[in-house]
Amino acid sequence: MSARVLDGTAIAAEIKEEVRREVETLAQSGIVPGLTVVLVGSDPASEIYVRSKVKTSAELGLASNLITLGIDVSQAELLNILQRLNDDDAVDGILVQLPLPRHIDTRAILEAVDPDKDVDGFHPVNVGRLTIGQESLVPCTPAGVMEVLRRQGIAVRGKDCVMVGRSDIVGKPMSTLLLNAGATVAVCHKETRDLPDYTRRAELLVVATGVPGLITPDMVREGAVLIDVGINRLDTRAQVERFFPDNPAKLATFQKRGSLLVGDFAPQSYAKASAYTPVPGGVGALTIAMLMHNTVKAARMRRRLRAAAVGGPA
Ligand code: NAP
Repeated sequence: MSARVLDGTAIAAEIKEEVRREVETLAQSGIVPGLTVVLVGSDPASEIYVRSKVKTSAELGLASNLITLGIDVSQAELLNILQRLNDDDAVDGILVQLPLPRHIDTRAILEAVDPDKDVDGFHPVNVGRLTIGQESLVPCTPAGVMEVLRRQGIAVRGKDCVMVGRSDIVGKPMSTLLLNAGATVAVCHKETRDLPDYTRRAELLVVATGVPGLITPDMVREGAVLIDVGINRLDTRAQVERFFPDNPAKLATFQKRGSLLVGDFAPQSYAKASAYTPVPGGVGALTIAMLMHNTVKAARMRRRLRAAAVGGPA
């Protein structure tokens, strides 16, 4: 039996449509959820992300605002701006695009955002709330993975799950969400002595390492659900040929675009899975949709309104 493809793009469209309807409902009470994105400097990748966040929020009827600051902005100036946004009642969500320039203390900036407006879910108060299972703003990428599982009817309770990667933005919150949902979770990283020994036991295997093709078929349990968070760019023909042996279609796409996005699973691993998220078109598609969801959730939570439909247990 061939593995089911978990279509992140379709799920993201569903979530965005729900957000759009919620925004319409809130508008009847005179509430327009507002998202402010702060971008420091002109990193091309950050500019693309920010533009797409602002564009999507406008499409869904949110009040979006972009604050662009020069690369040499001081930490004190940035803290002042955040204070102003914290105090502004029209602002429900504040997102500081990362990475920040080296002269700025990223932790201090993330901690200066009002936890109730922290739509990235990176503030220690939200990390703590998530850990003890309180309602909170949850980091968008792991929250998106939980939506994929929930909407595809993939149960988590009682499952043996393995999370490869322990970053603050993906691995740690993802493992907490799975644990809170009743899974048994092992978290692996570079220090893990025998990675395949863990991954082979996983009924649900979530990988966020940034190492293209790290997980090979021999590391996958037959019938497992594979969630690939990795987004890696292959820039040379040799890399593409190694990653996709005998795959003229992939080579043609590479020739046309000059690069190719791949995940942390070797493509041959999918044959052993019962379901998997592709790259691109899997988890990556969900992050912005969940940011929009978090902004509406923040608007509701600040006004103590009913929680939004998205975000229930998987
Ligand atoms: P990160 O901060 O670099 O963390 C990578 C994690 O993977 C670390 O915990 C690291 O272990 C672990 N790791 C690296 N190589 C490993 C290996 N050979 N064996 C076992 N563990 C290994 O990265 P991140 O921010 O979590 O992002 C991970 C990937 O997800 C990237 O490809 C990124 O582009 C992608 N991503 C996608 C989205 C999205 O879909 N929208 C969002 C965020 C990130 P140590 O802790 O021991 O170093």
